[in-house]
Amino acid sequence: MTDPLRILVTRRWPEAVERQLVETYGATLNVEDRPLDRAAFVAAMRDYDVICPTVSDRLPAEVIETPDRRVRLIANYGVGVDHIDLEACRRAGVAVSNTPGVLTDATADIALTLMLMATRRAGEGEREVRAGQWTGWRPTHLLGASLKGRLLGLIGFGRIAQATAERARAFGMEIAYYSRSRAAPEIEARIGARHFATLDALLAEADVLSLHVPGGAETRHLIDAAAIARMKPGAYLINTARGDVVDSEALAAALAERRIAGAGLDVYTGEPNVPAALTALENVVLLPHLGSATVETRTAMGMRALANVEAWAKGEALPDRVA
Ligand code: NAP
Repeated sequence: MTDPLRILVTRRWPEAVERQLVETYGATLNVEDRPLDRAAFVAAMRDYDVICPTVSDRLPAEVIETPDRRVRLIANYGVGVDHIDLEACRRAGVAVSNTPGVLTDATADIALTLMLMATRRAGEGEREVRAGQWTGWRPTHLLGASLKGRLLGLIGFGRIAQATAERARAFGMEIAYYSRSRAAPEIEARIGARHFATLDALLAEADVLSLHVPGGAETRHLIDAAAIARMKPGAYLINTARGDVVDSEALAAALAERRIAGAGLDVYTGEPNVPAALTALENVVLLPHLGSATVETRTAMGMRALANVEAWAKGEALPDRVA
């Protein structure tokens, strides 16, 4: 008789998915939902066949290369995999899967939420009401900026960027993008998106910039002090991608000086810590990494991770293999 598969789920997942993982595989759950530290990951590498981590876990080469490793599949819960050293996984022969597509709409919704909140000063207004400081309607109270007719500049033009563009069109925005590779003409035509050949050109023209590239070494500080300096005065920056894509110190400085009008952030370097230089500002909307946070989406993400585990358990090709 072969040993049953040993599967570890590192954080709480929606109940329907956890139930299926336990009923089918007797998976180990993290009932207290406490993040695992490095020592726990090293031990898990030796004790389990499959680990199902999330963005709040860190899986660097030193963990992947744990001596006497048993793990052969990392089935990530989420589309971004910059918290996993994919090169180390390839070298070690550990397969990695993610959950693309099922979180596209929810994340695009949050990009629009941030855009609207930042341009309409919704965070400032909410804080004012809760603090009992609202003195009543007046023609010049908390005036924001309209999205209609403004140019949305998307950086990265994959699933979430395109879904964000479709929503922004409904608000009357014009669409432009810069990405590593140019989209097919029919996609550009369907979305009505103009391609910019350089990041600098897009930075100079966009009224609202929205980031949709993956995290990792290639995109770290893509939006640095120099890039922010090239942004149109009075523009807005929206980040639902990964915290590392933006130099947050440079962003805080530009916001404090009002060189750009505002920002909306869902992701941060070193989450859950958010720099005091940002929390001190009125003109930035700060959300706690809510991109995919709907019941429907989080359940679908779990089911997608489960589908990868199932395929792997049967010796079939992974539907969403990233390494
Ligand atoms: P996707 O479909 O793979 O799109 C990524 C886009 O970025 C592609 O157009 C890609 O170009 C482009 N790109 C990659 N590297 C680049 C680089 N170095 N410079 C310029 N463009 C580059 O991914 P997605 O599903 O839209 O997700 C995008 C990211 O959003 C994820 O990786 C994740 O980090 C983040 N995310 C955040 C949340 C949240 O909760 N806030 C939720 C979901 C996802 P190619 O076509 O050349 O590959």
